Amino acid sequence: MSATKSVKIAHLFPELLNLYGDTGNMLTLAKRLEWRGMNAEIAEVGLEDSLSFSEFDIVFIGGGSDREQEIVARRLQKFKRELASFVEDGGVLLAVCGGYQLLGDHYILGEEKVEGLSLIDLYTDREDPRLIGNIIVETDLTKTPVVGYENHGGRTFLGSGIEPFGRVIYGHGNDGASGFEGARYKNVLGTYIHGPLLPKNPGIADWALLGVLNKKYGIGELEPLDDEVELLANQVMRERLLSGKVKEK
Ligand code: GLN
Repeated sequence: MSATKSVKIAHLFPELLNLYGDTGNMLTLAKRLEWRGMNAEIAEVGLEDSLSFSEFDIVFIGGGSDREQEIVARRLQKFKRELASFVEDGGVLLAVCGGYQLLGDHYILGEEKVEGLSLIDLYTDREDPRLIGNIIVETDLTKTPVVGYENHGGRTFLGSGIEPFGRVIYGHGNDGASGFEGARYKNVLGTYIHGPLLPKNPGIADWALLGVLNKKYGIGELEPLDDEVELLANQVMRERLLSGKVKEK
């Protein structure tokens, strides 16, 4: 009998970066592996813990307040090169909101310029008002548009040739003007979408899992799961938002 296939996930600093149910993303990855007879080993990495990215298949960074983000940005500086090799090697990196901003060159926080990880050619400025509300994004990664929630003061600008996660069909996205949301590079996905992202959009969870399982075990296609309930919830939300009846801030 072949050994159970297993995926190792690093959940970075959940005690600091855990807005709007971002932890639910971990549960979704674990469950979708389990339902396919595979294992997830999730390591909740704390700020003081030692860390070696080469041990992991997926790295997840959630969203947080400016203060928390700054602490994390400082802590991750010494892993810049290691994270860059993880990404270049096809490792899967999912980053939401504060975590997404961290993937770029820098983000502006008041008078301060906080150095990012420079993993994708992008940077984040700041502006009032905060961009808050429900969001729908069309992306090549899934047949069904992605739904979620955003709340950010940051305005993210992509370098030329950097592919966005998708196009905003409701809400604000990267900067409230370009119509772009998020960024993609290799197996990296950065997005402003909380909600949490993966339980509401199982296709995105499977995109991440296929990236890992293909790299690690040569799997070319995932066994389909029954996502009827998730997709119905997604559809109901889209219909409500596009009907114009939801009052946003
Ligand atoms: N602090 C960041 C901003 O406001 C990110 C917030 C978040 O993760 N929701 O832009």
